Parts: sequence; structure tokens; C-alpha cells
Amino acid sequence: MAATIGIDLGTTNSCVATVEGDRPTVIPNTLGERTTPSVISFTSDGERLVGTPALRRAAINPDQTFFSVKRHMGTDWRARADERSFTPQELSAMILRQLKKDAEAYLGQPVDKAVITVPAYFNDTQRQATKDAGRIAGLEVLRIINEPTSAALAYGLDNGTPQKVMVYDLGGGTFDVSIIEIGDGVIEVLATSGDNHLGGDDFDERLFDHLADTFERENHVDLRRDASAAQRVREAARQAKCELSSAQSTVVNLPFLMQSGGMPLHMNVTVMRSEFERMTHDLVERTSAPVVRALDDAGIATSELGCVLLVGGSTRIPAVVEHVRSLTGHEPSNSINPDECVALGAAIQANTLETASEGLVPYTDILLLDVTPLSLAIETVGGVATRVIDRNTTLPTHYSQVFTTAAAFQTSVEINVLQGERPMAKDNKSLGKFKLGGIKRAMAGVPQIEVTFDIDANGILTVSAKDLKTGNEQSITITDSGRMSDDEIDAAIRDAERYAEEDAVRAKNAGAVDAAHRQLATVESALARVGKRIDRDEKKRVKAACANVARGLRKKPGKMTDADIQALIAATEELERTGAHVVELASQDSNG
Ligand code: AMP
Repeated sequence: MAATIGIDLGTTNSCVATVEGDRPTVIPNTLGERTTPSVISFTSDGERLVGTPALRRAAINPDQTFFSVKRHMGTDWRARADERSFTPQELSAMILRQLKKDAEAYLGQPVDKAVITVPAYFNDTQRQATKDAGRIAGLEVLRIINEPTSAALAYGLDNGTPQKVMVYDLGGGTFDVSIIEIGDGVIEVLATSGDNHLGGDDFDERLFDHLADTFERENHVDLRRDASAAQRVREAARQAKCELSSAQSTVVNLPFLMQSGGMPLHMNVTVMRSEFERMTHDLVERTSAPVVRALDDAGIATSELGCVLLVGGSTRIPAVVEHVRSLTGHEPSNSINPDECVALGAAIQANTLETASEGLVPYTDILLLDVTPLSLAIETVGGVATRVIDRNTTLPTHYSQVFTTAAAFQTSVEINVLQGERPMAKDNKSLGKFKLGGIKRAMAGVPQIEVTFDIDANGILTVSAKDLKTGNEQSITITDSGRMSDDEIDAAIRDAERYAEEDAVRAKNAGAVDAAHRQLATVESALARVGKRIDRDEKKRVKAACANVARGLRKKPGKMTDADIQALIAATEELERTGAHVVELASQDSNG
């Protein structure tokens, strides 16, 4: 059986896992890290870096480095880099492609099937965008599942007793809380709630503000105006936050942070855990309302919970654990690493789907029943959102309702599909609109139009409208601006594949390009030192050889042909010969 993977495509970090032998295991990346920062950076020579190498470039290349792309999924936000613009799907695909590559290197075989997780709060457009990102990365997405559901899968295996469980997931950018029922071979999500804009990033920002304000009080300069200083402080804030999860205090020490009036300025600030807790108290508090709402929706009291699972890196913060304890009256479990839990569950689900499709005995026969995260409605007279499917309905689902016209002799109706809990259409998210025409002229209220909502197991929605008199039918074509068309996706796939080829060429050429850069730097610095002591002819020859190598380096390494590389190697060798005397003179200088 081909290997399948489970991917937790996180806001801050991503994680990939597989079922190996009979155990779900996290796949480390080529740097040996068990999670990969969800960061992409474009370098000036056309390289696209993902993960820690990208994170490292953030300080020197802040404009071309992209964080928290997941927050933009399903929107028309675009990143400008490499002289063009990229959709959130394309950037996410770069992360997914890297995880796929890491998995292939680890498993020693091609991997092309995956289960990818999304926050329970993601709407249809965001789920579809995630699926598209998978396609662009060359993955067949077997299923999109909710992160808390996935975590429950990872835990459900370890303690299979029937019970109701709360999954409290505080990650880098999102907060999700779900009430799950683990039954006899079935995990059902009873209710979900959360906050799409709450997570560890907000804790980092509070600490960053504290550090920047302290620095401004002491030095009278606003470091926020200096992009690379701000980036260093942001990094340090994140690290300090993590240290405060195990220590009572930490020191943020950043020498030579920036210059002011020609003087170097340093940062040296001690932060106590108690101070950090005061700064972030309201953020922790903000998780209470969704917890209460999820319990209400599930119709249960905290006393009915069998256990509470902690998921997401931010649940390592002691004040968060304490808050969950006092909110639920349960000692929360964190026996599975909170950063890895979701990917492990996704790997189990991928394995289950794949083995089932091949008629083999799956690792587990746990069946996944997911729910709609938000209610679905259509807009009716007076801008009212008329609900068709309630929030937390178990998937897959199919529901029809008959509507009619509002005005006399109306020959067409516009169906505006909405997602959200608010009573008025304008306060909900419009997923798309379509027109059903050809309605027979009749008095208002006479035509019968059947509207059908179909949601598949991935949570992806199709809406159709049928005139019951004529049988004329129309189904939705979502025109949401955040959504990519099939043509756009195909173009993005071609672009990603072309880039993967360039990447391979770049790796093959790296040695020659590196040697050329080194040789050029050596000769140029030697020439700067001893140039005045050699005759004009020699100087001219050395300069020409330098220019020749520099010309050979002008092309981006990924775009160099074999002939370009041969020419570069020849130019480098020529420079080594022509510049040997100058280099010799300079080295005698420094030895003497
Ligand atoms: P996740 O999206 O689950 O990988 O969670 C990532 C978030 O967890 C980031 O905001 C991290 O800074 C945060 N995080 C990771 N480890 C710790 C820790 N030891 N203490 C506090 N926050 C952490």
C-alpha cells in the first residue's frame, strides 16, 4: 500500500505524520524538527524557503517573508513576491509541498495522498481553499477534517471507553473548542465553537508591545519603525513566552538592536511570569465564552465530561491550564504532545480511508462523523437569513426546502447562500449567489422552488434550486473572490512543478555557484587591499576576470542551464589563475 500522510496545516506551525507499522508517528523534517514553521520566504535569487530557513530570513527580508497565511485562506488577500502575486492557497501549497517532500525523504517512497486538517470554524470557502492548496502541492486530498476531531481520534485510540470529551485547542492563530462523543467505534462531534482570531500570536504581540514600550521609555526611540529590529524583538518575545511556561522569569537580551544618533542601543529586559500573566489575562479569559457556548450547544454540563484534552502549543502556558481546570472542574489531559496530536489523528484517518478503499483491515475502524461548523441559510424577503441547515448538523447531510416568489410575475429568483448565525443576511458571510430563471409568470407565492443543500463528508457544499413546475434546475457556482478557478489551480500546479524543477537544478548547481561567489569575494577583497601595488595591465586583467564571473552569476541559480554552469566553472577557474598573484600579495600582507 502506498504511504499516506496526515497534515496539520497550522497557522504558526505545521506537522506531518503517518501510520508506520501499526503506530501513528510524527515525521521529522530534514532539519530534524517535529514541526515546521508555517513561514515562506522568497530570496533575491528566486529561491522559495519554507520553515525555519524562512523564519531566519524574516529579520533581513521582512517584506518577502510571509507568516500566518492560514488567516487569509478563502479571502482575496494576495502576497506580492518574486515580481508577481500569490494567493493564500499557493503559499499554503508551498508549505504542503515541503511537508510532502520531507515525508518522501523519511519514508523513502513517493507520497501523494493526504488528510489535511482545518479549524472547526472554517467556512466552506476556507475548506475548499485548503483542498485546492493540497492539489497545487501535488497531493490528492482524501479528506478535510476538523482539527479537534482529529485530536480526538489520536486520543480516542488510547482510551476507547464511551464518554463525552472536551477538546480545548489553543494554537498559534486560532482557538477551537469542541465537545466530542467517543462511542462504540464512533467519534461524533456534538458541538463546536471558538475564535478564528485568538492564539499564541496574540500572546506574542502583548509581550512584543511590552518590550517595545519599555525600550521606548528607556531610549526614546520607537523600535517598531525599524523593521529588522522589530522582527528580532518579535522573535525574542515568542521565545521568552515559551520560556515563561516553565520558568518564573526570563531575560530578553538583544545587543546592538538598533542605532540612534550613531550610538548602538541594546535591549535587556527581565520579564516575570506574573507580569506576563497580567498582560495576557484577558486573552485567556476570551476562551471562556466559546467553551460555555459549546457546552450549551451540546446540551451538557461540565460534570458530564469524561475528560478534557489540551491541544495546540499555547496550552503549554500554565495560566491556560489553570483556566481550563477552573472552568471545567477537570484536570486536563496532555499525554499526547499538544503540537503533534492533530497531525497524528489525521494520519490515522488517512490510513483508515486508504486501507478501507483497498479492502484491507484498517488500523482502526473508528468512523468519523463531522458537523457543520456554522448554520447555512438563504436570503429571503426583507434581507432575512432563512436557515436551511442548523449549526452542528452531522455530516454528510442533504436537506431540501420549498420556497416561492415574493413579487407577481417574477420570472427569476436569485439564491444568495449564507453561512453564519445572524438573523439578517447582511451580517452573515455570503458563500455565493446564483440565478434560477425561466419561472412561469404567476402571482407571488404561486411558483414552487425547491432549494437543496448538500454537504459532503469534507464539509463542502453544493446548493441547487429547482422549479418544481418546469423541472428547470440550476446549481451554485461560487463566485467568492477568495476562491480559485480550476484554470487558476492548474496554472498554480504548473508553476509549483516548474519551481520544483528549478529547485532541483538549483541544488545541482549549488556547488559551482557557491565556489564562484567565494572566489569572486576572495579576489575582490584582495584587489581592494593591494590593487595600488600592482601594474595597470594586471589590474585590468583581474578586473575583467571578476566581471566575467559576476556576469555568470547574474542568472538565478534555478534557471541556469548546463552550458551556463560550464561557463561559470570555466570563468571561476580563470579568475583563480588570473587573481592568484593578487591573492598571494594580500595574504603575505596579512601574515606579515
Ligand atoms: P500550534 O499551532 O499548535 O503549533 O501552536 C503554536 C503556538 O504555540 C505558537 O504560538 C507557539 O509560540 C506556542 N507555543 C509553543 N510552545 C509553547 C510553550 N512552551 N509555551 C507557550 N507557548 C508555546
